[in-house]
Amino acid sequence: MEKIQKSFDVIVVGAGTGGTTAARFAAKKGLNVCLIDRKQKAKIGDKICGDAIGNEIFDILKINHPKNEELSCYIKGAKLYSPNLKKCITLLDPKQAGYIVNRLEFGQRLLNEALDAGVNQFLDKTMALDLLYQNNTVIGVQVKLENGEKVNLNSKILIDASGFYSPLRKKIKSTIIEKNILKEDSILCYREIIKFSTKDQEVQDPEYITIILDQEKAPGGYIWYFPKNDSSINIGIGTFMGYRGKVKDLYKKNVFQEYVKTHNFDILSSGGGVVPVRRPLWSCADNGFMLIGDAACQVNPLHGGGIDPSMRAGYHAANSAIHALEIDKNSINELWGYNYEVMTSFGAEFASLDLLRIVVQSLSNDELNFGLERDLLSGEEILEISSTGALNLSFVDMAVKAFKGISRPNLLLDLNYLRIKMKEISKLYKNFPDNLEQFPEWKKKVIEIYDKIKKMIVNKKKSK
Ligand SMILES: Cc1cc2nc3c(=O)[nH]c(=O)nc-3n(C[C@H](O)[C@H](O)[C@H](O)COP(=O)(O)OP(=O)(O)OC[C@H]3O[C@@H](n4cnc5c(N)ncnc54)[C@H](O)[C@@H]3O)c2cc1C
Repeated sequence: MEKIQKSFDVIVVGAGTGGTTAARFAAKKGLNVCLIDRKQKAKIGDKICGDAIGNEIFDILKINHPKNEELSCYIKGAKLYSPNLKKCITLLDPKQAGYIVNRLEFGQRLLNEALDAGVNQFLDKTMALDLLYQNNTVIGVQVKLENGEKVNLNSKILIDASGFYSPLRKKIKSTIIEKNILKEDSILCYREIIKFSTKDQEVQDPEYITIILDQEKAPGGYIWYFPKNDSSINIGIGTFMGYRGKVKDLYKKNVFQEYVKTHNFDILSSGGGVVPVRRPLWSCADNGFMLIGDAACQVNPLHGGGIDPSMRAGYHAANSAIHALEIDKNSINELWGYNYEVMTSFGAEFASLDLLRIVVQSLSNDELNFGLERDLLSGEEILEISSTGALNLSFVDMAVKAFKGISRPNLLLDLNYLRIKMKEISKLYKNFPDNLEQFPEWKKKVIEIYDKIKKMIVNKKKSK
């Protein structure tokens, strides 16, 4: 192995969608960047995933949209089904339109573009082990190289993009970043990519990704059916982490047997994974350190989509590193701008959707069928509240909802309360403090909202 460089402006741990984006934009501005991943180079991008991504991120980052071998198919929007399948909400928000990608090819492209942007050192088959500290500031990472040798790599800023199981987050010495993610805030998934060998089974709704809410078949999660091309699908299930049983068995019974009707098929890929489904970490940065993507819980809590936010975060983290290093500083005060960007944009949306996720997980199939069929909280409202933090229903709209929901007054009241709290939390995130001093007061207000929603759920259970 040739001699490796050991000191950098920025080290990025993890070459997934988040890490390659951070490395690319930091390197493009001339920073001295090291990118490491435990996988071998040819396998980077290969991940158990639903493979769906909206088109907006490519325009925002001004990078090429997926094409050729990276692209599986185009998607117009999403369809969300009630458990009894009687109600289908079609979401045609332009942000939902996009692509199903071939994950390996997509990941390889992002990696190659990062390397072309000027990453100074790329180390594959290299495992990050621990954070290096000096005076409360992260100054690098201890890694195990391909040959087994342990070395210390120094950074002015370390970006952790090592995914949900980040070993580095668990080692952080910080009063503002949480180390552990509660089980109840993640979803355990299992999925397969299936190719029908003959034309005796067609791909359903080939222009939409389909999500089915069903508390009995997918407790605490959902079933997904995504097209890949005219003869292949990506189908899977997500369930509570605490599910007592094997998620693979649940998949076989409630997904595979329900949706694969032909005997002529090939299973192209299968496997499980975990997605965080909560608001982002309290803080995604501290002295000399930033976290992005799954490592920072930056995943849409409602549908588990994390590719787009990991890339957004990678871009913001690179910009914060560039600005901080321009003035030769790396303390949390200089990196706070990264938190601010995250929390006031998709962080606000995810906090709002997190409340919705918590309430949806507490509803029975019966309540879900009732609420969705009567539009007590519609798809458009959810998009509006979570993205803008504002939705003022007219008196007539409220009266119509009250009339439709009259036979279930408690559910109606709970959903109205939820709507109010979603708006409140979105506004709170949009007003995220621009400095650390005001952070404890802000955090207290967020916790109060969560406590109120959790109390509502406890009361609901008691009244049953
Ligand atoms: C079953 C399933 C379905 C999903 N479906 C979708 C979907 O359809 N659309 C969507 O947008 N999102 C989906 N997601 C979520 C999405 O895959 C993630 O949010 C996204 O990949 C996060 O990217 P990341 O860069 O943060 O982390 P990752 O893609 O997980 O990348 C982390 C990288 O870090 C490396 N690494 C880990 N530990 C170390 C270490 N110690 N040292 C060095 N390197 C290390 C890994 O090898 C990996 O390359 C799904 C997730 C699952 C599990």
